[in-house]
Amino acid sequence: MENPLVLASGNTGKLSEFRQLLEPLGYQLDPQSEYDVSEADETGLTFLENALIKARHACRISGRPALADDSGLAVDALGGAPGIHSARYAGEPRSDEANNRKLLEALVDVPEGRRTASYWCVLVWLRHAEDPVPGIVQASWPGEILAHPRGEGGFGYDPLFWVPERGMSAAELSAGEKNQLSHRGRALRALLEQLS
Ligand code: IMP
Repeated sequence: MENPLVLASGNTGKLSEFRQLLEPLGYQLDPQSEYDVSEADETGLTFLENALIKARHACRISGRPALADDSGLAVDALGGAPGIHSARYAGEPRSDEANNRKLLEALVDVPEGRRTASYWCVLVWLRHAEDPVPGIVQASWPGEILAHPRGEGGFGYDPLFWVPERGMSAAELSAGEKNQLSHRGRALRALLEQLS
């Protein structure tokens, strides 16, 4: 297949999601581990900076074009926290349950109506490590933070993420419904438009 591309991530779930969309367009997506690319130090202050750092690191070591993504939850009443720290909001070892508990504690005095939040997904596509014009997509999914968890599906903050247009939490949506609405689904579809 033409157009080999490195995914700047070690996450196998992301690899198969991205492959499903990119392979029909003639892109062969390889995980960065196939090129001995180590994890990059995510020293940026934004999703965009961290996605750029990961993509550039993968390009530099593999010598191939690379795709990177960075995502997380930004809560308005918390000035955008947990933001880039979403995965490790409650510290190490990373735990969705501890993160959700910490989020509920941080919002304990914030009333309904002021608990608005958005998931964000940023995708970066670099043709080579010195590419001056990266492909960039930033997509969001607006919602609200519940006072108690609901639902068993999804991952991360999904049991606390209320989806007003469906009247359910993100953890109560099917995988297909979540893909239709989510930050990641929207970002992928926007990237495909850029590529085509
Ligand atoms: P990463 O981009 O896979 O490192 O995700 C960053 C963190 O943001 C995850 O560990 C979750 O805590 C949170 N996050 C990102 N996307 C989602 C989502 O779709 N549902 C729930 N949590 C998410």
